[in-house]
Amino acid sequence: MKALLILPLIAFCSFVSIAQVYTLPNLPFSFEAYEPYIDAQTMQIHHDKHHAAYVNNLNKAITGTSMESSSMNNLLMYASFRSAAVRNNAGGHYNHSLFWEILAPTTAQKLISSELQTAIINQYTSLDSLKTLLNQAASTRFGSGWAWLMVGTDGKLAVVSTANQDNPIMDISKDRGIPILGIDVWEHAYYLKYQNKRGDYLGAIWNLINWGVVSDKYAAALNDPLLKELEKDNWLALKDFHKVMAQTFHPSEENNFEPLRTRSGELYAKAILLKNSAPPASANNPRVQDALTRLEKQCLTIHQLAQKPAKNEASKNAALFEQISKAHDIFHEVEGLCHD
Ligand code: MN
Repeated sequence: MKALLILPLIAFCSFVSIAQVYTLPNLPFSFEAYEPYIDAQTMQIHHDKHHAAYVNNLNKAITGTSMESSSMNNLLMYASFRSAAVRNNAGGHYNHSLFWEILAPTTAQKLISSELQTAIINQYTSLDSLKTLLNQAASTRFGSGWAWLMVGTDGKLAVVSTANQDNPIMDISKDRGIPILGIDVWEHAYYLKYQNKRGDYLGAIWNLINWGVVSDKYAAALNDPLLKELEKDNWLALKDFHKVMAQTFHPSEENNFEPLRTRSGELYAKAILLKNSAPPASANNPRVQDALTRLEKQCLTIHQLAQKPAKNEASKNAALFEQISKAHDIFHEVEGLCHD
């Protein structure tokens, strides 16, 4: 009898177990291979304990939510809307996965591509001055965090730094782009060997940077559709408008016109700000400008209608719904045009 009760219980427990969406990648070399620049014990704890914990905690945090089927890029891009557990552990997993990829013992390193070398010389005059800038970003990061070389949304290289396990894909980062080289400046990355001497660790780490892999990441980032997504996501006036549009339009779909009636002025104001904002390069074209002009006019129409006294409230709501639906269509036209 007892066994009969336990079996379904086991089945139930395995059903609610933690989703294994993310797994810890293997380190490409032995722990000792990074000596003398990073000691074997640090590599082992860093990979087997710290990175493993980020993976486990990320899986825990997304289990049973729609985020189980989200892409990593999606988790990162909308980090400001996520819990601290998702933000920190998705960042931790992404950042460390990249870190292991770009580190290699001197004997296993590949050469920098001519494309990346040219880009570095054009922007920073030499590889050495780029290293100096990255080390500055890494040494001035207060507390824990990362220094990055990234491809920005303008397609140019940029040196940036983020706190904790944040990175430039996240919407909380003021500089957006795709990282191609990251330096971990958490104490767990260097403390056993270097203690408080972060500068010595930063001097040594360049012996391990595999410029061949960084070059591959540079080429991939330039062609990654994510770069356009990040650029559009950085159009703050569009985001601002979208928020008010969503908070007024969606209730009206469910016959709640209170938000639209009370916030029509705000919706119109956001449309004006959007029309006067500087769109990202990929959306800077006459079709987008035309749509924004129509959107502003449409929001004025809605605002005037919302302000007008009505004899029949139901027919006023019906008219409002017709007009806000038109504004919603124009908004999605703008969004669609940005993808071109
Ligand atoms: Mn780390």
